[in-house]
Amino acid sequence: MEYKIKTIGVLTSGGDAPGMNAAIRAVVRAAISNDMKVKAIYRGYKGLMDDEVQEFTTQDVSGIIQRGGTILKSARSEEFRTPEGRKRAYDTIQKEQIDALIVIGGDGSFTGARLLAQEYNIPVIGIPGTIDNDLWGTDSTIGYDTALNTIMECVDKLRDTGTSHERLFLVEVMGRDAGFLTLNAAIAAGAEAAIIPEKATVAEQLEAAIGHGRRKHKNSSIVLVQEHAIEGGAQAVAKVIEKEHPEYGTRVTILGHLQRGGSPTAFDRILASRLGCAAIQALLDEQRSIMVGLQNGEVVYVPLSNAIKYKKNIKDDKWQALQVLSI
Ligand code: ATP
Repeated sequence: MEYKIKTIGVLTSGGDAPGMNAAIRAVVRAAISNDMKVKAIYRGYKGLMDDEVQEFTTQDVSGIIQRGGTILKSARSEEFRTPEGRKRAYDTIQKEQIDALIVIGGDGSFTGARLLAQEYNIPVIGIPGTIDNDLWGTDSTIGYDTALNTIMECVDKLRDTGTSHERLFLVEVMGRDAGFLTLNAAIAAGAEAAIIPEKATVAEQLEAAIGHGRRKHKNSSIVLVQEHAIEGGAQAVAKVIEKEHPEYGTRVTILGHLQRGGSPTAFDRILASRLGCAAIQALLDEQRSIMVGLQNGEVVYVPLSNAIKYKKNIKDDKWQALQVLSI
């Protein structure tokens, strides 16, 4: 090893996700068990630039495993995208004597972490924390399972009303550029169709969405719409359907930030706990600029560059399952 890592810094960045607290707890406790000091950084890269740093003990992460959000707060920072901003971040790293940085966040956060690592030769480990599940190299990101369950429960509730009033419900789901949440929630909630960025053209998907259910004499239908599959989201889809089929009684529900909150599922807590410990193990294994992930149930180290560069594919069998099961 070039030098022994005595002090690590940890931060959460980008959109908050349920299970981030479980990951912070694991990082802090695994580091301390390995005789490292932990400096907790508040408000992501903004806090790193502004030196919002506090040393954490094991007690500082007591009683948080079941809490959604992130006790370290999250933020987005335009300044960190600039070399000057990252210089300010490095000044804090030096001042606080941080030897390695652990970043819990999504692909934007990892892009920033990688630049910082390249520019200042500091070991950086990424832990995938985003409800979107859009990071290559890990089967699941922390927060995805919880969000999926939240969406499924919301759609189950909407179906009760949809059936009673014979309506077509369009439900807008988050996901940035990825359709994982939308497609999987559609399967889990037995929706009639999903409109996602990865598949076919929106016009084709729209036709399928309108045709399904109605064609088979169902008296209510639910279609999940990924927020960025079409400009204007579910509202835009509703306009098209209302024009062609005013008789459908189309209603739009935007789940919004409801999807990001709540107590993490057991799956997310266990994933976060494993990946938090794995991040410290990665530092002991002299890894740098990698993301810890889970593939086929095993912890893996993936170069940050690959996690950012490659796009995770939607599984075709899932897409086909939705088509087959919605008849
Ligand atoms: P989520 O997927 O939940 O939105 P994310 O990590 O992708 O999470 P972003 O808002 O894209 O969220 O990124 C978080 C922060 O990371 C940004 O506010 C910015 O400070 C930093 N960041 C993002 N992209 C870059 C970049 N290209 N260069 C430097 N820093 C970046």
